[in-house]
Amino acid sequence: MSQDLYFFADGKAEGNAAMKDVLGGKGAGLAEMTNAGIPVPPGFTISTRVCLDFFGEGGKVPDRVAQAQKQYLGRLEEMMGKRLGDPEDPLLVSVRSGAKFSMPGMMDTILNLGLSDRSVEGLARKTGNSRFAWDCYRRFLSMFGNVVLEIPKRRFEEELERVKDERGVTLDLELDEDALRAVVEASKQVIRDATGKDFPQDPYRQLDMSRDAVFRSWHNPRAVFYRKQNKIPDDLGTAVNVQAMVFGNMGDTSATGVGFTRNPATGEHEFYGEYLPNAQGEDVVAGIRTPKPIAELGKEMPEVYKQLRDITGRLEKHYKDVQDFEFTVENGKLFLLQTRTGKRTGAAAVRIAVDMAQEGLIDRKTAVMRVPPGDLDQLLHPRVDPKNKPEVLATGLPASPGAAVGRAVFTADHALEWAERGEAVVLIRAETNPDDIHGMDAAKGILTATGGMTSHAAVVARGMGKPCVAGCSAFRVSEADRKARVGDRTVAEGDWVTLDGTSGEVMLGQAGLQEPTVGGEFATFMSWADEFRRLGVRANADVPRDARKAVEFGAEGIGLCRTEHMFFGEDRIKRVREMILSAPEYRRAQREVETARREMEKAGASGQEAAASRLREAEARFAGPKAAFTGSLDALRALQREDFLGVFKAMGERPVTIRTLDPPLHEFLPKREELMVEIAVGEATGTPSAALEEKRALLARVEALHEFNPMLGHRGCRLGITFPEITAMQVRAILEAACEIQRGGGVVHPEIMIPLVGSETELANQRKVVEETAAATMDEAKVKVEYLIGTMIEVPRAALTANEIARAAQFFSFGTNDLTQMTFGFSRDDVAHFLPQYLEMGILKQDPFVSLDRTGVGDLVRIAVERGRKTNPKIKIGICGEHGGDPDSVFFCHRLGFDYVSCSPFRVPIARLAAAQAALSEAEETVAAATA
Ligand code: ADP
Ligand code: MG
Ligand code: MG
Repeated sequence: MSQDLYFFADGKAEGNAAMKDVLGGKGAGLAEMTNAGIPVPPGFTISTRVCLDFFGEGGKVPDRVAQAQKQYLGRLEEMMGKRLGDPEDPLLVSVRSGAKFSMPGMMDTILNLGLSDRSVEGLARKTGNSRFAWDCYRRFLSMFGNVVLEIPKRRFEEELERVKDERGVTLDLELDEDALRAVVEASKQVIRDATGKDFPQDPYRQLDMSRDAVFRSWHNPRAVFYRKQNKIPDDLGTAVNVQAMVFGNMGDTSATGVGFTRNPATGEHEFYGEYLPNAQGEDVVAGIRTPKPIAELGKEMPEVYKQLRDITGRLEKHYKDVQDFEFTVENGKLFLLQTRTGKRTGAAAVRIAVDMAQEGLIDRKTAVMRVPPGDLDQLLHPRVDPKNKPEVLATGLPASPGAAVGRAVFTADHALEWAERGEAVVLIRAETNPDDIHGMDAAKGILTATGGMTSHAAVVARGMGKPCVAGCSAFRVSEADRKARVGDRTVAEGDWVTLDGTSGEVMLGQAGLQEPTVGGEFATFMSWADEFRRLGVRANADVPRDARKAVEFGAEGIGLCRTEHMFFGEDRIKRVREMILSAPEYRRAQREVETARREMEKAGASGQEAAASRLREAEARFAGPKAAFTGSLDALRALQREDFLGVFKAMGERPVTIRTLDPPLHEFLPKREELMVEIAVGEATGTPSAALEEKRALLARVEALHEFNPMLGHRGCRLGITFPEITAMQVRAILEAACEIQRGGGVVHPEIMIPLVGSETELANQRKVVEETAAATMDEAKVKVEYLIGTMIEVPRAALTANEIARAAQFFSFGTNDLTQMTFGFSRDDVAHFLPQYLEMGILKQDPFVSLDRTGVGDLVRIAVERGRKTNPKIKIGICGEHGGDPDSVFFCHRLGFDYVSCSPFRVPIARLAAAQAALSEAEETVAAATA
């Protein structure tokens, strides 16, 4: 059976750095430093298991622990030559929490334990410094009162302030012994008032009560919240460290401070930190006095400074990572009180990893493993300068990272108008839809009151690399009044706002921005990551500008080019509407012609004349719709060919996956409700009836296309199957562009992707259209282009019948947004209404639209990969949903042997790093398994 307590003193500890599970991070660090001969005040650690036993026994430590503790405390007393709280010469200790994962400031610590009305006098006599002794006592009373007796800190601070006022002083340091005695008396009275009992004078009781309070602090709301935020399990428990006190508040040759071995904000290799002379513990971070930069310690106490640099330098070498340390100087003698891995920004993480590898401290693999992929995001977008940040007005979902400053506008048209005048704007909407694209494009950032992490606004903004805060429900947006109400505040058109899409914060006013710091070491770091990864990384890009950005960020191809995003340009939407609105009429008239023709063939000699005339009539009726439909198709083909030319040019020989038309058609049409209003208004105001008639006809056609569940309606390949002309038009545009480039000596690799397939027959149908059109186009151009045909896997049935579908496909690309939507049956656009609560209640652990749900959706993906490969072993497999840029999901795709992942251009570096880490951790596991 393992021990309950672990001693550390004088160069020898019973524990070590590897025992974080048992000793907690702080205890393990104290043990390791002690073993390394670093000056650490002696003490012992009560293990995390005791904490679990404590809760197991309903808030009581087991007897065996009480026994062992007596023995360990005895050892400490003997070695210090003092007894805990001895009236003549008291040993004082700190009681410090410390869990396996560092939870800075989340749990509680008590200093100066062992003081009482009698021992404070002993301490004063022994040190010859009664001011110091009474300062320690008043600090102890307030910490004990707060942590153990759960009296608000404020109560003690009020008494302290009151005495300061009485004495006419402003700083704690200016209080003399007499004043401190008054504070002590008042603090004891606070305790008496709050608990009905006197403060416990017996030091051993103080110790037991403090130990138990530290155990209990594991469950305090701050700690629970922090663990939830950082995904730390609740059942680890905390250790308790009981450690002899050293005093930084003994006078001018004493001090306390904290520091980092490198700059945690920039990663620069500089000694970084702060200290306060004549102070104790938390004073440095508490902000009571302004601490001094650590460089000054070099002037004030050069010997101590040199020793501190030497020790922390050794610690960094030993742990091979940046250390965040605490120290105290007691009368010119240095002690280390804590060391741990330093938290750092994304920029610092990259810089430090590269520097340390170049210094030979770590190897490249370690360097690549060191940086959490998600942290790269901070490097790729402008950030809010914390020193120049206005008050936060509301917080929504951090839907697309980066910061944006601009003036509020409430419609896409206004966004464009203001932007064209040279104004920076932030577009604020209840929600966005595809009609808003031009406004989103013109805006610096986008805010929506509704919608989740994969709402239209969020997805489009991420694709554009624009900051977006979604689901900011505090905003009541009134488009008509050009303003929004937020609580009792109003944001009007033209008001300055700042969005932080990384945190979800919305500020009223102009924040200062810091530009992304993609420096030389970033490129070096990414090149190392690329050495290790097996997965390909592509980007989702619809237009040449995004494609170029993707290449700049290291994309090896385009995994998803959404042709419909090209349809929203001003000149195009008219053509698109024409195509959609003329299509049904076109089809009906075409059928009539076909019927008439068949009847003519069947008709005997006597009927020939009449049948021929019916055919001529049908043909005459067909002429109009045919001209409208094929005319709009031709116009769109010409426009799309130019789009594809641009994208191909940006991508060179890299593969480009182009998806045929996917969204429900009504997304391109005028809104039904708006038309109805326009007509009603027109009728009331006496608009000429010809104009109204036109609108009514339009409304009738819009209504005919209306669907109850458009996301499950006439979209994706279903459109291409009922209107093969549309697929053919797009394929022709793709191949014409490809042929043109190849004729000029270039090489392109188009991959044509059919969306929303649920059965082999659907894909086979579209494949035939693609192949015939492509062959005809290449014949005409007399150029041969190598291209692939594949499908998205986004309907659950497609995943389950992948063995069949794979026979007709050269590649699969998992559209995990729709696949998640259809597997859960959660509407992506409405999920914000209940998902936050689901997450809060723990019904879902995480947002399945952000991180792939491995057990459900992931299982469908696994099944599809297995079955697809069974019938088509050469099939190429990728993912193009939002998950392609989520590190956990990238790991999952790596494990399933995907060929590539595809994500928005700004997430490409994140995916590259995640892919490298997936490969490295797999290699490590293989080694571990082989040697086990
Ligand atoms: P946290 O985890 O909140 O940092 P700590 O247990 O590290 O809490 O302690 C809080 C402060 O008290 C730190 O500044 C630490 O250096 C100081 N401290 C803790 N134990 C001692 C001690 N035995 N002697 C002097 N200072 C101490
Ligand atoms: Mg600490
Ligand atoms: Mg889809």
